[in-house]
Amino acid sequence: KTEDALLEVTNIEVIYNHVILVLKGVSLHLAKGGITALLGGNGAGKTTTLKAISNLLHSERGEVTKGSIRYRGRPVQGLDPAAMVKSGVIQVMEGRHCFEHLTVEENLLTGAYTRHAGRSEIEADLEKVYAYFPRLKERRKSQAGYTSGGEQQMCAIGRALMSKPETILLDEPSMGLAPQLVEEIFGIVKDLNEREGVSFLLAEQNTNVALRFAHYGYILESGRVVMDGPAAELRENPDVKEFYLGVS
Ligand code: ATP
Repeated sequence: KTEDALLEVTNIEVIYNHVILVLKGVSLHLAKGGITALLGGNGAGKTTTLKAISNLLHSERGEVTKGSIRYRGRPVQGLDPAAMVKSGVIQVMEGRHCFEHLTVEENLLTGAYTRHAGRSEIEADLEKVYAYFPRLKERRKSQAGYTSGGEQQMCAIGRALMSKPETILLDEPSMGLAPQLVEEIFGIVKDLNEREGVSFLLAEQNTNVALRFAHYGYILESGRVVMDGPAAELRENPDVKEFYLGVS
């Protein structure tokens, strides 16, 4: 509805294996230039929502059976994932998903595959990624499978950046990482948002961290949005405090 909505998900239903109804009418808006958090516990439907947007449900035997998904006003349902990347939306999957046998730098370079860019342009972009993630530069010749969990998460984000996305769908970046690294990664997400104008839809179980960095949040429970609002308001909401922030 708002003019600056980049992504509009309207009342989508997702069914797995023709029978398992997992999303029961989810609607959300992603503001241009914002960081939007998609919150909720294990199994609430966060990953499913992201995969519905980036058209990655097919391999999971999942299907959007109702509702609509629009990016920049254009329906994007049914586009193949590569076409989605070309239109500016890329997903960083939960669990990092680097190519373990490739070096960090080779992983980053695979991120540029949908572009028709010359070598010097790609090299400049690589340097830009390294400027945000100096650790990746240090580790650029290392096989990705032998780098730490935090470095693999950085590598996965860096690879996504190489596609020059307008929007990144980031699934559980904090998963399995020590608090200090979580801060570091969210700090970089914030910088990318502020300096490069990348919009983020961030699925997180770690409500506390996500609401500190996001501008707006949606809370999912059992495949439904049960609450949404500006992050600052959600942080002060008594129910959110009690059920998601672990304080009452
Ligand atoms: P998590 O943090 O564990 O990823 P989530 O909020 O991202 O949680 P989803 O992964 O979207 O949740 O899962 C939502 C529900 O859909 C869960 O009940 C899950 O068991 C179910 N589900 C996910 N993938 C499939 C699948 N391929 N086939 C059947 N059911 C699935």
